[in-house]
Amino acid sequence: RSISSATIPPPACILRPLEAPLRYLFGPGPSNVPPRILAAQGRPIIGHMHPEMFEIMNDIKRGIQYIFQTDNNMTIAMSGSGHAAMECAVFNTVEPGESVLVAINGIWGERVAEIAERMGANVHRMVKTPGGYFSNKEIEQAVEKHKPVLFFLTHGESSAGLCHPVDGIGDICRKHNCLFLVDTVASLGAAPIFMDKQNIDILYTGSQKALNAPPGTAPISFNDRACHKMFNRKTKPVSYLFDMTHLSNYWGCDGQPARVYHHTGPVSGFFALRESLAVIAEKDLRLPSVTTIAIPDGYNWKELLAYIMKHHQMEMTGGLGPSIGMVMRIGLMGYNCEKVNADMALHALADALKNCKKSKA
Ligand code: PMP
Repeated sequence: RSISSATIPPPACILRPLEAPLRYLFGPGPSNVPPRILAAQGRPIIGHMHPEMFEIMNDIKRGIQYIFQTDNNMTIAMSGSGHAAMECAVFNTVEPGESVLVAINGIWGERVAEIAERMGANVHRMVKTPGGYFSNKEIEQAVEKHKPVLFFLTHGESSAGLCHPVDGIGDICRKHNCLFLVDTVASLGAAPIFMDKQNIDILYTGSQKALNAPPGTAPISFNDRACHKMFNRKTKPVSYLFDMTHLSNYWGCDGQPARVYHHTGPVSGFFALRESLAVIAEKDLRLPSVTTIAIPDGYNWKELLAYIMKHHQMEMTGGLGPSIGMVMRIGLMGYNCEKVNADMALHALADALKNCKKSKA
């Protein structure tokens, strides 16, 4: 046999037609995508550097400015999931050896602490039990003590079910020359947030939750304070793909006359994201997203979830990270945010409670 002929045969599984079941996605994301957004994603693709694509990206930028309630010029969508935005925020604004303060009351703070540690930051953790809340006084004391360049807080803690207040924290950070970074992956579009009025320096979200687009893109915005820090660094960010010097040019935010190739953006994902921003701009809806429910005494949460999946074709999930075993989570977001779905979810829960075993203990 010649060295240039294939010896691995085509796998039988890939020759079968694609199977993707219809599901009620009542978990903490992704949520069901409305036909209108699926149709936008299904349009024939165009080149990522075509002028029409740049127009679409400009529209996306304006749409993100609207949903974030910000005038920030440095507003883009990451080619990647929420984690891409988390890494982009940290990698660009922090240099190795600098101090970062992370509020941890569920899994998302833990993740950001790890991301910052991996790039060599000096990470300080403020830890509460899942769903715990940090007072502004506690935050100010920790900022004074650790003198971070960046303070991270999760607005919608989807592993623990808490919507953390943000008022006043941006002012504390300003006073102490620190940037305020807020994660709204699970809350943007469902719970109110006002980036400029609340003095948030860096804000990001994901496409696949309350925004109702498929997973794979993540809006992020930096204000002037954040830009000043990230564009006056001594070292280059550890990631080439997430380097905001390049991304700001790709998104037409750097004032240069031409955009040059950096990476190939997810064209279909941007079509969908644009449509999802249009849906919000039309409806201006702001609704609760992920509901956490304490597991009823005596029940096994895995059994309840498995029963609901088997008998009702419905995804609900357990806790995540530190909230595992504490809660069950129901996401009714965007397309799924209808009374009929809430009734269906309640009916499924009632049925599960009736039919799953309850231990005496
Ligand atoms: N932050 C929060 C609050 C989230 O709920 C999630 C997703 N569950 C993420 C970040 C990470 O987003 P992704 O899975 O899109 O990377």
